[in-house]
Amino acid sequence: MLTKFYLYNTLSKTVEEFIPHDEKEVRMYTCGPTVYHFAHIGNLRSYIMEDVLEKALNFNGYHVNRVMNITDVGHLSSDADTGEDKMLKGAKREHKSVMEIAKFYTHSFFADCEKLNIAIPKTVEPATNCIDDFIKVVSALIEKGYAYISGENVYFDTSKVKNYYSLTGHSSDDLKIGVRDDVDEDTNKRNKADFVLWFTKSKFEDQQLKWNSPWGVGYPGWHIECSCISMKHLGEYLDIHCGGVDNIFPHHTNEIAQSEAYLGHPWCRYWFHVQHLNDKAGKMSKSKGDFLTVSLLEKKGYNPLVYRLFCLQSHYRKPLEFSYDALDNVASQYSRLKSRISALNREGAVDETVIDSYRLDFMKALADDLNTSMAVTKIYDVLKADITDAEKYRLIEEFEKVLSLGLLDEETSDVDEELESYINEKIAERLEAKKNRDYATADAIRNELAEKGIILKDTKDGTTWEKA
Ligand code: AMP
Ligand code: ZN
Repeated sequence: MLTKFYLYNTLSKTVEEFIPHDEKEVRMYTCGPTVYHFAHIGNLRSYIMEDVLEKALNFNGYHVNRVMNITDVGHLSSDADTGEDKMLKGAKREHKSVMEIAKFYTHSFFADCEKLNIAIPKTVEPATNCIDDFIKVVSALIEKGYAYISGENVYFDTSKVKNYYSLTGHSSDDLKIGVRDDVDEDTNKRNKADFVLWFTKSKFEDQQLKWNSPWGVGYPGWHIECSCISMKHLGEYLDIHCGGVDNIFPHHTNEIAQSEAYLGHPWCRYWFHVQHLNDKAGKMSKSKGDFLTVSLLEKKGYNPLVYRLFCLQSHYRKPLEFSYDALDNVASQYSRLKSRISALNREGAVDETVIDSYRLDFMKALADDLNTSMAVTKIYDVLKADITDAEKYRLIEEFEKVLSLGLLDEETSDVDEELESYINEKIAERLEAKKNRDYATADAIRNELAEKGIILKDTKDGTTWEKA
């Protein structure tokens, strides 16, 4: 290990030394996206910081085994089991099936991750793959007396667990049912805080995805999905569970209650929560409809990695306000930094004893509750240091394993040459087709390019094109 690693733990509400259950493997679980819409850059703030955490632990000498779910069923409009399934809402909005939109938005989430240099965990499991696992755990919870059937749904009985509010510091009096005022309290519940493990009757009429279960045809609740997927792949002892702060209650609170009731012992030691990205109107959220995506930033001419740097320059436990002015400042800082690095002469010997202390300094910044802005400052320290260019380059190469800012990437033009010549060929073919009055072929070529994100424009001087 390079150094001791300290992290704020939402469970203890203090910064603690991180000690995994098993030194050989850190087991980390991330709540994945609910794939009913594009991820907004707020969601991606959480995933960027979780990515840095994983990479920082690896850099420090741990081996991280990370698992993420994809929520493709059971996450209702309010996190407290009221309203419509978000996936169904998305499917109706787009006149598609739930599985079609799940596939489309999962793919688009991965594409955003790639643009932001967020490593996708080796294990990514959609909830709809694990119905048998959910049924097994819900059955055991009923058997152990922690769950009950009411109104033909299965509920978790929160009065059966001792420290239900340990993660939040809430008291039961604070609890509101749902966040929407127009939704009635569910009278099937024995206690206000109880939550659904398996739905059959309520919210059922037009649910597209449903499965047989011992309690009738239905579908799982959102909270049980993460508990089961985590236990399925990472076993009975989890080291770190991650998510945005909105997941603390009720989602993670419920995960703890049901997992520990099922296992009969403490489950996850460290809870890592990322504060929200806000815009002037408040928390960025998918349900507001009008939100910022990575593609939108790209359309406006920003390199997505500028947004990554923007996130890394503030601490994950502080709310972050997004503005284009702030992003512009980071964009010019980013290009200055890249030119300084590209001017380094990489050839030459590297003295390991010289670079060791810089490496340790960088690690210490990250080990101080993931102080990423300090870690970024360490790049400037290296650039200023009295060491050779080759040593500077080597250090930045190492820091990049964690920061992943693309600082060593060569500048590439927006469109590669191969694509450019392909488009020109297609434009020539289309022109030929038009000359022959073969408008069907001409239209087919236009549509094919449009599908690839290339828009043709016919002008009096010929056909031009631009990216969609
Ligand atoms: P969802 O797709 O809604 O299930 O959320 C995916 C992840 O994004 C979860 O970890 C949320 O806690 C997190 N999240 C949601 N809104 C924001 C926000 N405005 N800023 C940062 N993280 C967020
Ligand atoms: Zn989750």
